[in-house]
Amino acid sequence: MRYYRRVLGLIASISICNASIRVARPIDGDLKKLLSSGATISYGASTAPRWSEFHAPQPGTIVSVATETDVEVTVQYCLEKNIPFFAQNGGHGWSSSWHLGENGLMINLRGLNTVVFNDDKTQARIGGGASIQEVIDAAYGNDVHVLTGNCNCVGYLGAGLGGGYGNLMGLYGFSVDNYLSINVVLANGSLVTVGPENEDLWWALRGAGPNFGVVTSIVSKTTPLPREQNMAWVGGLYFTEDKVEQIAQGIENLKLEAHMNIFLYFITSGTPDYMPTVLVTVFYYGTEADGRAAFKSILDIGPYTDTTAVLPQNQWNEGADGFCVKGERKPTYAAGFSHMVPSTWRQTWTAFTEFLKNPDTGSTSVVVECYSLDKARSIASDSASFPNRDVRFNGFVIAWYPDPALDSTAETFGSKLRDLWRADSELPTNRTYVNFAYGDETNDVVYHDSTTRLRQLKKQYDPNNIFNQWFNLQR
Ligand SMILES: Cc1cc2nc3c(=O)[nH]c(=O)nc-3n(C[C@H](O)[C@H](O)[C@H](O)COP(=O)(O)OP(=O)(O)OC[C@H]3O[C@@H](n4cnc5c(N)ncnc54)[C@H](O)[C@@H]3O)c2cc1C
Repeated sequence: MRYYRRVLGLIASISICNASIRVARPIDGDLKKLLSSGATISYGASTAPRWSEFHAPQPGTIVSVATETDVEVTVQYCLEKNIPFFAQNGGHGWSSSWHLGENGLMINLRGLNTVVFNDDKTQARIGGGASIQEVIDAAYGNDVHVLTGNCNCVGYLGAGLGGGYGNLMGLYGFSVDNYLSINVVLANGSLVTVGPENEDLWWALRGAGPNFGVVTSIVSKTTPLPREQNMAWVGGLYFTEDKVEQIAQGIENLKLEAHMNIFLYFITSGTPDYMPTVLVTVFYYGTEADGRAAFKSILDIGPYTDTTAVLPQNQWNEGADGFCVKGERKPTYAAGFSHMVPSTWRQTWTAFTEFLKNPDTGSTSVVVECYSLDKARSIASDSASFPNRDVRFNGFVIAWYPDPALDSTAETFGSKLRDLWRADSELPTNRTYVNFAYGDETNDVVYHDSTTRLRQLKKQYDPNNIFNQWFNLQR
């Protein structure tokens, strides 16, 4: 997901609760002595703020691990004491399916953030708590490509375990297509290494990972390349609102080659007047001349501002930094679809501008992501539980505001747009990328063809439904 500093640098200030200080509990002594010296235990959900406060989990205890064994020990402790728990990496999961409360425990994975390459730099072991920024910085510094998502703040594996869309997927497929092995703590408390030889778990973890365990690290394929080749033409094209239909049709008609992707945003100009505006971002892995030629049909529509530039890999995501702001409420509704129907995007624009009349909603946005899918589709659709290789567009709407009193208005707005996109999706059934889903979707919507086998494997590998916070497979 890319966004533009020009707008999001201006996002209104956020409210993150002050860390609460509580009396130490027995868990301190019991669990602390089992953990490595680098691990810590703290109390109160506000000590690990999340991207959205809307329906956020509220764990009473947070264990910040320092080693993969710390995760194993903590899961075993929770199993023994019957403590509900979940793992947090970047904290950007926006699902409203969380139900962890004060008696629950969060395993904060952020300490597991190392990225270690093999000698010829064709593989990297990436820790279960690494952020996308940490992976990209390591990749760029070592002159390799690793498939990551497009926002630096997001957890590399939080995004990847659900499938993992990213700028370079036209070349490498989805994140899950690049994994070579997975270290994971399973529902029985054991830390194991899963590879292609463990057919069922290997399939399940790559698409529905959070339902089957806590992944402590993975090994991913990486592609070495000379640094001077690690450049892309990226940036934003701003259009007046009368161009909405032309842009929708232009994106529909555009054939995305492997080096390309394109996003459409409805956003505002930010403070002070928060004027609604239309932004198209383009990504071309290569030269500006080739990029401009590839996106000529979009450029010909006539943007009023062009912020594109040729940038190295470690700066591709920077335009999105403002979008990483944590806190406030951000109920988000999404749908996958096969076609961009111009009239749908006019209706979406109208609903968007109407919602902006509510107070303090100026950071609200609508996004459509469109990636080159040929590489991903060349990989067998049943090779992983991730089910969305056939979905061409992912649209979502983030209603962003500070005041809980606006929740029901925001939910009505978000679900109305999701209904609109679903009605025009030209897909046989409703579909949503699990990492973009709101939380009320059935398993069939987020896991599609993989649902039956996932449910069977869930009974086998997690019969007591220990991992039940994220799009619960036993619903
Ligand atoms: C600003 C922003 C940008 C985004 N950009 C992209 C993008 O470019 N591509 C893309 O595909 N998606 C993107 N997303 C969606 C993103 O994939 C999801 O929000 C994802 O759930 C976030 O992962 P996280 O680790 O940050 O969040 P968390 O809330 O920490 O994790 C989300 C879920 O994954 C589980 N989880 C996290 N790490 C592990 C682990 N190591 N083992 C087991 N379970 C784990 C958590 O328990 C939780 O259930 C973006 C989201 C936001 C808010």
